[in-house]
Formats: sequence, structure tokens, C-alpha cells
Amino acid sequence: MNQTLVQRREKSATEERSVGNNSWIVAPGVWRLKDIFVNVYIIQNRERTDWVLVDTGLKSTASKIRSLASSLFGGSGSRPKAIIMTHAHFDHRGSLLELAEEWGTPVYCHHMERPYLTGQSSYPPADPSVGGGMMSLLSFTYPKGPINASDYLKELPNDGTVPELEDWKWIHTPGHTPGHISLFREKDGLLIAGDAFVTTMQESVLAVATQKEFVCGPPKYFTPDWGAAARSVKELAALEPNIMATGHGHAMYGDLARKELHKLSREFWKRGMPATGRYVKEAAAFDENGKPVHIPSAKGVLIKKIAIAAALFALGYLISRQRKNTKGISKLATGQLGSALKSSALVALGATAAASPALPSIPLIPAI
Ligand SMILES: [Zn+2]
Ligand SMILES: [Zn+2]
Repeated sequence: MNQTLVQRREKSATEERSVGNNSWIVAPGVWRLKDIFVNVYIIQNRERTDWVLVDTGLKSTASKIRSLASSLFGGSGSRPKAIIMTHAHFDHRGSLLELAEEWGTPVYCHHMERPYLTGQSSYPPADPSVGGGMMSLLSFTYPKGPINASDYLKELPNDGTVPELEDWKWIHTPGHTPGHISLFREKDGLLIAGDAFVTTMQESVLAVATQKEFVCGPPKYFTPDWGAAARSVKELAALEPNIMATGHGHAMYGDLARKELHKLSREFWKRGMPATGRYVKEAAAFDENGKPVHIPSAKGVLIKKIAIAAALFALGYLISRQRKNTKGISKLATGQLGSALKSSALVALGATAAASPALPSIPLIPAI
């Protein structure tokens, strides 16, 4: 950890503070708004007292953004100078067309994210085989098709500056998507990381019960290039951020958060990514414009999982049948063994990794 860098920075905030209605002030001039499970950010340009919006959440988020903006800036100031997209997944671009049209505001993204915002390409398919819970299992139903925001779309400047925000720079952090970016404010070490990594595991019963914040890798079922994702986390950890605000979860602060991020980076192969999955052995490939040019087949992984699941289920079924012919303790034991094997079949299919004591529950929980 680079302590000199950390100490040189302003200590602008040590925790986020609620400002009502699922909204928090993260640090001076930066607010987080949560809609269902995803965050958007409002950043005020303190030099000029205007603001930009980072990501647009789901379709339901537009009205919540309007109402937070007017409570912060008053009715007349409730239109931003720009919308900046960390990436274009459905839960980050849900209100984009509605708000860009209403505000007539330019929308900035990395040039490799353009295909997904100009109607040209769909993202590679989600990978429901990564395990971890219902969000993964259902991921094949999430929209992956593009929208067309060409009328408003501009590319982020090559020099790393962020339009309308003097204090900020953008960093290309691919892996989760080819044109994924993060935003960084050097003076107080405030990082908005999008989904390059996230700070929640909301599918984990343990995490929900204890409200423990956790630095996790990018949402697993939606990440088609794990090598790039690992390099991006390493690059973000090297910034030694003091405040980490991500696409999902609470903001995290200070030494503890930094330590967690470094740990994630060091042990990315076991904490940040799934053990198996469609994109684990082979990444999806994209051309220089961000369009997918090679998408690994799902067959190998799925067939293997289905074969394991079928074998476990058959064994569980046979043992459960055997139970009828046994008595007392052995009846109980065979019953339990049969149920355990049938549950393991579900685990093999990725239904609920946390249900199996033999598998680590933390790294396999999806974070969206
Ligand atoms: Zn995403
Ligand atoms: Zn997301």
C-alpha cells in the first residue's frame, strides 16, 4: 500500500450519510441514489455549481433521479450538463433514453462501449452457470440487446479528462464490458468504479443479516473477460482510493476498504471470479470498436454441469428409495444422504452454492 499517496490526500469523508429516500451523500459534491439494487451518482461541479449524472439505473430510476436533483439543486437547476456512462448494461442504462431526450444532454462513454449504445451489438450472453444464487440463474433472462442513443452520444476525451468535471479523470477498466470505465477524483481519492468491482453480496443470507460490506469482483454472470477484469481491479487498487463507490452496494471508506480491495486484487482468481463458467477458460474477444468477434461456446461447461447434476440426482434418488427398506438410524442417515445428493445436483447446476457446506459461500455469491 502506498501510504505517502494516501496521506497526501484530503480526508473529505469517512462514511456516507443518508439524505432520505435511498439517497446518500458520499463525499462533498457526490451523492448516491439506489434504485432496487443498482446505484447512480450525481456529481456537482463545485467550481461552477452545476452537475453531471453517472449512469441512469433501471427504467424506474428516472423519476427518482429527477426528484433527488430538484431537492439538491432546485427546480431550475435540475438538468445536468452531461450524463457519463460507466458501461451500458441494462441496469445502468435503463433511464438513459428517457432522460437524455428530456434534458437534451450529451451522453459520454468509452468508444468501445458505443456498439451497445448505438443499436449495433448485443453483449455476449450472460453465464447462468457461474453459480451463487438466483440472480445468476435468472441472468439468461436479463436484456443484453443494445439501445440507440446515437443522437446524444459522445466519446470521452482521449486525455482522461471528464467533460464538465474539472477535478475528475476517467480510467478504462475493461473486463466486465469492453468499454467499461471508472471515475477518480485525485484530491480526496474518491473512486466511482461502476461494476469493475462492487461492494455487496446481496444474495448471501449472511451478508443481508449482518449488513456486512464486502469488496467483490464484478457481477459474475455478466463478465465475459476475467483476465481483463483482474487487470482492471489491479489498476484501481494501485490508485489507493480512499472512498469506493460502486454500481451495487454501499460506499466504503479508508484503510479497511483499501485493504479489502488489495486482497481482492491479490487473490482475484479465488475471490473475484467463478471457479467454472462459460468465460473462465476462454474470454470473449472484442474488436477495437468494442464489438464481439468471438464468443466461447457454452456447451462444454453446460454439458459437464448437467452430467454431474444428473449423476448426483440419480444417486440421491436411488439412496432415497433404499431408505424405504431400512429402519431407525440408518433410515434417517440414508434419507439425509439422499436429500444431500439431490441438493448437490442443484449446486452442480449453480442453483445455490451457499447451500453446500463443502463450497465456499462468499466468493460464489453474485453481487448484482
Ligand atoms: Zn454491469
Ligand atoms: Zn451493474
